[in-house]
Amino acid sequence: MSRLLEVSHLSKFYTNKKGLFKGTQETVKAVNDISFFVEEQETLGIVGESGCGKSTTGRAVLRLHEPTAGEVRFRGTDILSLSQEELRPYRQKMQIVFQNANSALDPRWTVERSLKEPILLHEPGIAKGELDDRIDQLMESVGFSPMYKKKYPHEFSGGQRQRIGIAKAISVNPEFVVCDEPVSALDVSVQAQVLNLMKRLKAERKLSYLFISHDLSVIRFISDRVGVMYAGRIVELAETKEFFSNPLHPYSRVLMAAVPRPVVAEDKESLYQGIGTIAEVSKVGCPFCTRCPQATERCRQEMPAEREVSPGHRVMCHLYEAGAIRS
Ligand code: SF4
Repeated sequence: MSRLLEVSHLSKFYTNKKGLFKGTQETVKAVNDISFFVEEQETLGIVGESGCGKSTTGRAVLRLHEPTAGEVRFRGTDILSLSQEELRPYRQKMQIVFQNANSALDPRWTVERSLKEPILLHEPGIAKGELDDRIDQLMESVGFSPMYKKKYPHEFSGGQRQRIGIAKAISVNPEFVVCDEPVSALDVSVQAQVLNLMKRLKAERKLSYLFISHDLSVIRFISDRVGVMYAGRIVELAETKEFFSNPLHPYSRVLMAAVPRPVVAEDKESLYQGIGTIAEVSKVGCPFCTRCPQATERCRQEMPAEREVSPGHRVMCHLYEAGAIRS
């Protein structure tokens, strides 16, 4: 398999005004110098707590939020260096499924009109008959009879709306889809249907996914590899099987301990203290040091480098430096 997407040293910073009369500026490093790749027909899962930067990563990769620094190469082309006009063909190849399908569907439009809109944008010369056939095929591919295309979004349930949101994302035949918490607003039984649909569409259409979720069970089901984000950084990245059998970063173990089943044989009480707000993050040392049960003075003073501890398994933690590997 070859690399479809290569992200290098990507950052996205925001400036907030705060204090009395908003006279003080504060820089929020939502995504801070992260690198990863997605191979053709691969699903890379990104997991982490709310506010860790995973959704910002998805949007920065698509340039829905302009990154502050870094490179995003799609089939070798750095799309961050392209003008909006030059970017247009890449927008067709790189789509997004939102957490809430209402973000993708205009409530005043029929499903048919919502599905036609992106096709007409990218293929303005398409013949009417071909367009109509394409809409019918899209409806069938996400499990609806074509006659449902005349309905409006409010006439569908949440899970059905999400299936239509997925149909809209694949309507322009993308190669890469950012899936931003696509099942987190759905009931568990409906989640399984939508996840199975996404797996099937991935196989049928040879798609690659960047799949963002706070739910490790979902990530485990859908992903080929897993990246764990904390405070804007990817702190661990590994193949799914390797990650779930051998989580190394203390934060990954915190996440595992929060899943309601025994995953790692650690003292959950001591690990669990990590779950909560990420507002308090060290500015100089390891970002996790304020919550890490294994933090040392060095962790508070020095940012750990990222290391590959086994083929394809990267971790950012002082515990796993060369010659000091502990699992
Ligand atoms: Fe914990 Fe230190 Fe590793 Fe950070 S570098 S995760 S504080 S042990």
